[in-house]
Amino acid sequence: MQKVVLFGECMLELRQAKDGVMKQSFAGDTFNSAVYMKRIFAQQDIAFMTAVGQDTISQQMVEACSAEALNNQHIFAKSERNPGIYLVQTDDEGERSFLYWRDSSAAKQVMQYVDQKAIDALCNADLFFFSGISLAVLESQDREAFWAMLSQLKEAGVKIGFDPNYRPRLWNGPDEAKAEFAKAYAASDIMLPGVDDFKQLYNIETLEDILAFCKPYAINELVLKNGPESVYCQLDGQLTHVAITPVSNVVDTTSAGDSFNGVYLGSRLAGGDVTSSVELAAASAAIVIQHPGAIAPSNAFDKIHSAVK
Ligand code: ADP
Repeated sequence: MQKVVLFGECMLELRQAKDGVMKQSFAGDTFNSAVYMKRIFAQQDIAFMTAVGQDTISQQMVEACSAEALNNQHIFAKSERNPGIYLVQTDDEGERSFLYWRDSSAAKQVMQYVDQKAIDALCNADLFFFSGISLAVLESQDREAFWAMLSQLKEAGVKIGFDPNYRPRLWNGPDEAKAEFAKAYAASDIMLPGVDDFKQLYNIETLEDILAFCKPYAINELVLKNGPESVYCQLDGQLTHVAITPVSNVVDTTSAGDSFNGVYLGSRLAGGDVTSSVELAAASAAIVIQHPGAIAPSNAFDKIHSAVK
């Protein structure tokens, strides 16, 4: 059994129906990846790492992790704060808009609970995965502690995975994001960016330019996603191209990249090669985008389960 720890923020998701009724669920990029990884690779030990408070929504969030069979060992439930919330509204044309209340969420404080004992407990993981969102939401004075923790994990032989998932509104300008991301690229054994991340942050978007940009960081495994366009993987310097079959009836692209990441990483840890792992990840993401919200119903993956078994 392999152990993966996914680090970040999970939020209460509220979806407003036409009649004004709010439907509640839980979501957040690395949480979504953890859920999809565990759903397809049930035999692996998948942990979500965050901080929550002592309120009822925090309790329900932890219960949601348990309901998805995630390992809750690295969830710190001591914060005085509450979880972040976001509201999804859909207008008459079907356009979605998002409102966030996350500036003082419990998850921002996670590093304040990470002592040496907590780091030691992470050192037996095979993979530690985080994103640009996980980094952005950390209190800025806690980022140093995060990087110190990451270098201890690396030293202990834990593989490091990263998705930049650049969200401009979470950063004090692009320079802050660039500086933090450069540390993440340097630490990463495997990176799963989207072409959009490079376009928005560095104004580069061709495969050649992106590979040239990443070269100095010597990232062993680079998986470049681009919506319905082909996925390119560079492993040990070897480039592989995998075509994606576009979905014609896209309902909601939320979590496409998150589900792709979770299933790709799960497949690679289970011994899958790059091509079969991209194919499985893309098939899972294709299912996710045909359902509303970040987390699709678990029975939507029946076909994938039979393909894996
Ligand atoms: P992100 O959510 O990080 O922006 P992408 O939009 O690049 O991620 O999508 C991630 C993956 O989801 C793609 O590599 C692809 O496998 C799948 N995907 C996204 N959009 C589509 C689509 N329209 N048709 C089929 N697959 C898609």
